[in-house]
Amino acid sequence: MSKQLMKPITVKGYAVAEPTETQKFLLKPIEQQVNSLGENDIFVDIIASSICYGAFHHVGNIPGHEIVGIVRHVGERVEKDGKIAVGMRVGMGWNYSSCLECGSCKHHFENLCDSSKPFMNAPIGGGFQNGVVWDSRFVYPIPEKLKSVDAAPLFCAGAAVFSPLKLYRESPYSKPNEFKVAVLGLGGLGHLALQFASKMGFHVTALSTSANKEEECRLFGANDFHVHTNENSVKQLNSNFDLILNCVSTDIDTDKFVKMLKPFGKLAIIGVPSSGSIKAGAFAMIMKNRSIVGSGGASNDQIREMLNFAAEHNIKPQIELSSLEKVNEAMEKVVKNQARYRIVMVVDKEIVDKENQ
Ligand SMILES: [Zn+2]
Ligand SMILES: [Zn+2]
Repeated sequence: MSKQLMKPITVKGYAVAEPTETQKFLLKPIEQQVNSLGENDIFVDIIASSICYGAFHHVGNIPGHEIVGIVRHVGERVEKDGKIAVGMRVGMGWNYSSCLECGSCKHHFENLCDSSKPFMNAPIGGGFQNGVVWDSRFVYPIPEKLKSVDAAPLFCAGAAVFSPLKLYRESPYSKPNEFKVAVLGLGGLGHLALQFASKMGFHVTALSTSANKEEECRLFGANDFHVHTNENSVKQLNSNFDLILNCVSTDIDTDKFVKMLKPFGKLAIIGVPSSGSIKAGAFAMIMKNRSIVGSGGASNDQIREMLNFAAEHNIKPQIELSSLEKVNEAMEKVVKNQARYRIVMVVDKEIVDKENQ
């Protein structure tokens, strides 16, 4: 049963408008009313919302899938269940909900659900607004140690890099102390991947196109650094890694990175290539049992584990603060790849200021 709210809530946000000649992505103010909540739904007042460059393509959509806020209202079943309660600080990511009945859901990989419902299907859209309605079963309490602005980017970027590090951390070839991870690309995903991999205790190599990223990569936890466009480096790196996390969102020379894998090594594709496809020669994979794997977000259990791990090991995104009102300015920076490394829009300044004291 859906529950009528005592007083309707007006939510203010930004929706994708028709692109103009000068601006590829344009967002326009929008107001919506929330009158009722489904039995499993909650209403959250947003504190902070960060910008992940994904799913901006449909006019009318309210983007945003890295969201932190405070629960203001809960649906009937949520109230009975008591796991998520009014006043709790929570976060939300790519998935708004899932069927909770298919094989993937029953195996606790809700992110891989056959009929997964991403944030754009949420009743009033994603996080580029001051409030949101979400399925309480896809909402995660935030450990106290994590500030809201630092927690927001963890819900997509953090989850995306944490999951493959958990899933593909073993090899029939390398002993645990020989297991080597490489992170390709230092951006929104890569700078978090370096931190998680390093704090998990792996030997971590950063692979970049520019030599001036070395110091920064080492600060994020890289033990080693290589410019992968340098031919001598590449030769040295053949058959060297058990797991490479591809964190760039452009097309890559897949064969070059497959050859850097040890036998049974895996190249995990996290960033979406600009062309949308991956081309690879079969020979280098067959001869050494190497594989290329896709990596789509994280399960609910993995997200909870990731948050605790980040809090415990002081893993934080490097962020630039902005505000909802400046969303178009912020988007332009993201599109031009100038964000270092995540832009977080402060929605509730009072709470953010208080957390900074
Ligand atoms: Zn994302
Ligand atoms: Zn399902």
